Amino acid sequence: MTEDPLFGYRGYARTFLMSNNIKIGDRVRIKKLKENFTVEGIVMPRSLLAEDGFIEIKLDNGYNIGIRITDDTVIEKVKEERKEFKGGLIVPEIPKPRPGLPKVSIISTGGTIASKVDYRTGAVYPALTSEDLYRAVPEIANIACIEAEVLFSIFSENMTPKHWEIIAQHVADKINKGFDGIVVTHGTDTMGYTAAALSFALQDLPVPVVLVGAQRSSDRPSSDAAINLYSAVKVAAEAPFAEVVVVMHGSISDDYCLVHRGTKVRKMHTSRRDAFRTVNDTPLARVYRDRIEMLSNNYKHRDKSRRLKLKNKFDDKVVLLKVYPGMKGDIIDYIVDSGYHGIVLEGTGLGHTPETLFPAIKRAIREGIPVVMTSQCIWGRINMNVYSTGRELLSLGVIPGEDMLPETAYVKLSWVLAQTRDLDKVRELMLTNIAGEINPRSLISYYPPL
Ligand code: GLU
Repeated sequence: MTEDPLFGYRGYARTFLMSNNIKIGDRVRIKKLKENFTVEGIVMPRSLLAEDGFIEIKLDNGYNIGIRITDDTVIEKVKEERKEFKGGLIVPEIPKPRPGLPKVSIISTGGTIASKVDYRTGAVYPALTSEDLYRAVPEIANIACIEAEVLFSIFSENMTPKHWEIIAQHVADKINKGFDGIVVTHGTDTMGYTAAALSFALQDLPVPVVLVGAQRSSDRPSSDAAINLYSAVKVAAEAPFAEVVVVMHGSISDDYCLVHRGTKVRKMHTSRRDAFRTVNDTPLARVYRDRIEMLSNNYKHRDKSRRLKLKNKFDDKVVLLKVYPGMKGDIIDYIVDSGYHGIVLEGTGLGHTPETLFPAIKRAIREGIPVVMTSQCIWGRINMNVYSTGRELLSLGVIPGEDMLPETAYVKLSWVLAQTRDLDKVRELMLTNIAGEINPRSLISYYPPL
């Protein structure tokens, strides 16, 4: 807890702010005369570990930026605002919920979006209550009535099929309580897997279920957390579709977010804020601050009278295996001997493996273990009729994964195997489009992606 009105500022920046009678929480206008640059925002606390000579401000769009103080920098107070702050964090007033707005439930599972910077240590720690949310993005009170709760506080690399089951159950409970949309905040690393899992587990959705994350934590300069969260709530509250989707930054210029179908989305960049892309399809929509622009007519419509079906069981004995030159069949033998129930291969090109794998694949299928083929090309569709390798694998009984993402095929196979271990039924279900994971057509416009 601190009462320091310039928490985290030291040296030159502290002197500069003091001499201009500025405190954390004040609304200021900063000008750089030589560059003809002006910016307005709220002065934020500064990490004790951060470099001296900068002022950190929160812009109206929710972003924090650091501004270097140069000899032509002029600062003026616009308004004394948000004077209350605790432990180095500003505590703005919590907006009053407006009656009549759509009801949105926000379920937090962890990851960067649910993290805050501890200004004493610079460390990022997970925390998200509905109060934290309004503090971070008060504008969401204008579009929805929010109820927020923390389900897990984990990094998404630690998610398991058990977590998918629990999240799906929790979402179903909220939908049955009458919410108009659900937002699930999630780490970005495996958000695509959870999105696919919820797409299969939550059938006949009446309202949208939106996964959202952030590449940079909410109190960092240039965080994407605020815009992503705002856009996710907007989609949950207002979008015309009722599907499981991912909402994340669509461009680096921060002007819109994209809405991706949960079975067709992939994290394609380690650090860029526009890391998520729709693969082998068109994104469903773009979300701007004031509107949702539909990019596709192919979606299930929102309909609150529809009865949700929950099928949230997953078999955790499924393997996703990348094929590579020089790979040997002993790995597949090991998987079979270890009691796994299914294998998804991320094959080369149109859906191939080295022929050295054929005997082990044949044995796996003979022993009742389905083998599904996807492609490490990521874009495009499996076609195992072109080359003799593909035809041979088909004759062994390998199931072609059409245009499914390898991760989606992995999640789907574990969902299917929780229902049946009968090879013919598994094949039939894997080849049936259940949640938009198989697109009957592959259009030229899908690549390169939007
Ligand atoms: N690796 C962590 C996760 O996926 C943090 C990264 C993030 O949230 O984007 O949960």
